[in-house]
Amino acid sequence: MYIVPEREIADLMTRKAAFDAVEQVFAAMAAGDAYNFPVVREAIGHEDALYGFKGGFDRAGLTLGLKAGGYWPNNLEKRGLINHQSTVFLFDPDTGKVRAMVGGNLLTALRTAAASSVSIKHLAREDAKVIGMIGAGHQAKFQLRAALEQREFEKVIGWNLHPEMLENLEEVATEAGLPFEAVELDGLKEADVIISITSSFDAILKADQVSPGTHIACMGTDTKGKQEVDPQLLVRADVFTDEVAQSISIGEAQHAVAQGLIAEADVAQLGAVINGAHPGRTSAAQITLFDGTGVGLQDLAVASSVVELAVKQGIAIEVDF
Ligand code: NAD
Repeated sequence: MYIVPEREIADLMTRKAAFDAVEQVFAAMAAGDAYNFPVVREAIGHEDALYGFKGGFDRAGLTLGLKAGGYWPNNLEKRGLINHQSTVFLFDPDTGKVRAMVGGNLLTALRTAAASSVSIKHLAREDAKVIGMIGAGHQAKFQLRAALEQREFEKVIGWNLHPEMLENLEEVATEAGLPFEAVELDGLKEADVIISITSSFDAILKADQVSPGTHIACMGTDTKGKQEVDPQLLVRADVFTDEVAQSISIGEAQHAVAQGLIAEADVAQLGAVINGAHPGRTSAAQITLFDGTGVGLQDLAVASSVVELAVKQGIAIEVDF
């Protein structure tokens, strides 16, 4: 088996490779070639940790495996380690033998950023110029970097509950040679694309704070109870997601569906747009909303891609196992 340690991922994995892996696996999911297994997430009663597994099988890409890990809230303070910890295990689908063990921390950020980036490629207006961010934490920087590659953006605007964190966004904008402006939520009406990536449990953005023609990627809501936007926005928008079952139970659509404002049938798979089975955006005035809930197959896809790169570059550690 191969081992690709966490420390090697930054130099190996490119945004392009993550983008391609996620785009392909979303397409495979919509074509019925790939499916996610039920997610296990447990409070283990030790160190206040949440631990679990996200797995799946992609018959098209022949990727089988799981991501194991979770959240250890005391890591940073007690041990100087990051609180989110995960490892991906890949198995040979022909034999069941373990194929690889891959550090999953950085990969999680890259695959999450790739998901919104794929949604922008397929759903945002071609002439999008202003990108708006809600959230300015760890994931937000990855999100913005990946998104900026999808359109010829001319300006970044951003809002965050904790304004002192906005310098994270400004740093990425400056890196890309773009101006950055901090705005109030009403100011997001200027945006052609909006990404929300916060740990909020209440709607931040109201439906009337989004202009016609906008594409919005809601990326923070990945658990029951979390929420970033007014459910009325999902009524105004055409809603797309990575996986419908997750979108309506743990994603942003959970609230609009629970309130009877939209039905499960109103949520389409982004993969269907990639495959050409769904028209996606059909007018310049339409609002499109991508509910990115995060699926195990995304983790497996980027891990598989990084193993390939590591083997090619002679960096993968080979173990007789
Ligand atoms: P972080 O702690 O670095 O940043 C949190 C962000 O949320 C900051 O911008 C903070 O100001 C904001 N925030 C915190 N509480 C808020 C509140 N009550 N209202 C509004 N904003 C609030 O976290 P991160 O690593 O950037 O993760 C952000 C979110 O993304 C988390 O909810 C995480 O679970 C989620 N996430 C989703 C996926 C996915 O696949 N969809 C993957 C990874 C992380």
